[in-house]
Amino acid sequence: MFTTDCKFLENELLDVVRLFKRRPENLTHSFRFEEGVFFNDFSVDGKAYFFEDRGQVFDELEYKRLERRFAKLRLYKILSAQYQEKMPWGALTGIRPTKLAYREMENGRDFIKLFEEMEVREENIRLVADILKAQEGIYEKKDDNADLFVSIPFCPTKCAYCSFITAPIDKTRHFLPDYLAALDKELLAAKESVGNLRSIYIGGGTPFALSEQDLERVLKGIEPIFKECNPHCEYTVEAGRPDVFTEEKLRLLKDYGVTRICINPQSFSDETLQKIGRRHTEADIYRAFEMSEKYGFDVNVDLIAGLTDETPEVFRKSVEKAVQTGAENITVHCLSLKSGAKLKEETEYLENDFISTMVAVSRDILSHAGYEPYYMYRQKYQVGNNENVGWTKPNKACVYNVDIMEETANNLAVGANAVSKRVFNSQGLITRFASQKDLKTYIACVDEIIEKKRKFFE
Ligand code: SF4
Repeated sequence: MFTTDCKFLENELLDVVRLFKRRPENLTHSFRFEEGVFFNDFSVDGKAYFFEDRGQVFDELEYKRLERRFAKLRLYKILSAQYQEKMPWGALTGIRPTKLAYREMENGRDFIKLFEEMEVREENIRLVADILKAQEGIYEKKDDNADLFVSIPFCPTKCAYCSFITAPIDKTRHFLPDYLAALDKELLAAKESVGNLRSIYIGGGTPFALSEQDLERVLKGIEPIFKECNPHCEYTVEAGRPDVFTEEKLRLLKDYGVTRICINPQSFSDETLQKIGRRHTEADIYRAFEMSEKYGFDVNVDLIAGLTDETPEVFRKSVEKAVQTGAENITVHCLSLKSGAKLKEETEYLENDFISTMVAVSRDILSHAGYEPYYMYRQKYQVGNNENVGWTKPNKACVYNVDIMEETANNLAVGANAVSKRVFNSQGLITRFASQKDLKTYIACVDEIIEKKRKFFE
């Protein structure tokens, strides 16, 4: 049971509790602020703890920041000592450590000092410093900057770990004609809201689950924005799973100016691929690379650490094989199970003793192969409290990924389940507009969505 007299801190403290495998049965918390002192009193399974922390409070924002920080750190320290467990990111529970680092620096503070205080592991502090360095020249805070995202929520089959709204295309194909018509309308209207276009990203789902004809229709819809707003911008298609690659689709991408594709194997182990409900094999992955080679796209590859029954050795082979493909970017995700994922329903407790080893293995192989970490994010329910890290060959970082993770540019997101973001950098404010997830509702509401989104970006 958990109670606190401070509503603002309730979820923050629960996030700290969730970091640990073992949890207190009874936890009470009380907070007060008096004459520059933050008081946090805890009772953990009958044992009482009292803390007083001082901090310079300049404004309301700073007050909230310190209120949150002291309470979380104190609880983390109690639980860490009680259960003899230290977390890779210490008391930090937020999903964007790099954003926090930037904020500290913008306020003239050393982020390393804060991360050390929050007991973040040294290698993770180094990781954040390396990412900030790799983002030099890409990271840009300008209110008018924008990225365009086009959502294709269709997949060949549903993967066991997936919580995304996508459904196997065999069950949703009948929505396609109306969905594509709705996308056309949205794209036509979106042009007036695009500011300084930095990148375009057609994502999924699996965009290559579409037929050549349907894919071309999407590319055609985007063409006026691409040509008129910034014909030199990065243009990515998350082609997706190797089993749906065709020469014709790749040629279309080239014809329409696409510069980057994603080939997402997740694992190079045939056994794992079968267990997670994919229909392709390791051989299909290489086939997809061979097919794409002549078009000269930059390639992003996704791997997941912690998939069903994988050992660090199996995972190591996947990382090595991904490097051998020569991909420009390799992102290593740690398994994260949300509701909606079949694996979550089958997994009582999300734990994988191997996960930290896998993360260490990937860092070792990728850095020795000349890749640099260039973006990262954490997720709730992530195995082992680790993180997802995107690695890049020098000067090949994906602008879209940086903008999305650091939330420095508007995101004009089109399609079902697309979440548009408007970023007001100077006020430190982000507003969001989410479109309907369900295909049928999205199609029915598209005119209303267009109107609302136009106002949203006004
Ligand atoms: S390909 Fe991606 S979006 Fe599609 S079911 Fe698998 S994990 Fe989900």
